[in-house]
Amino acid sequence: MSEIKPGVYPVPMTDPHADATTQPFWDAALEGRLVGPRCTNCTTVILPPQPRCFVCQNTVFEYVDLPGVGTVYSFTVVRHPLAPHLREAVPYVSAIIELDGTQGAGARMLANLIDVDPETVFIGDRVRVLFDKVSDTFAVPRFTKN
Ligand SMILES: [Zn+2]
Repeated sequence: MSEIKPGVYPVPMTDPHADATTQPFWDAALEGRLVGPRCTNCTTVILPPQPRCFVCQNTVFEYVDLPGVGTVYSFTVVRHPLAPHLREAVPYVSAIIELDGTQGAGARMLANLIDVDPETVFIGDRVRVLFDKVSDTFAVPRFTKN
């Protein structure tokens, strides 16, 4: 488990346990890039990666680089530690990020918003991705305010 820091949700794993569908996402994350699978038929970007496009049912995707910036679509501030090991992490912000360069709903990401005062987070805030490398095979995307 990663070190517990205030505002940072700890990562209990050291490997993403990816499959063929999700491995390109995690490979890019290790390189500090945010990517998403784009349907080769209708161009919808789907995150998290899935084996089938939910718009047109196509099963062929190409991974594309995303700008790694977006807008807070919604969020919650977790103030109560839901497990004893989270006592030092609260309060932390879990946010749904609407990513630039996508069609919105298809590629919203749930992520920890870090390095922020939870009282100053608002829907519509501009945010950018950063990657928290927790092992040689696993970098977790988190976001921070621009
Ligand atoms: Zn499609």
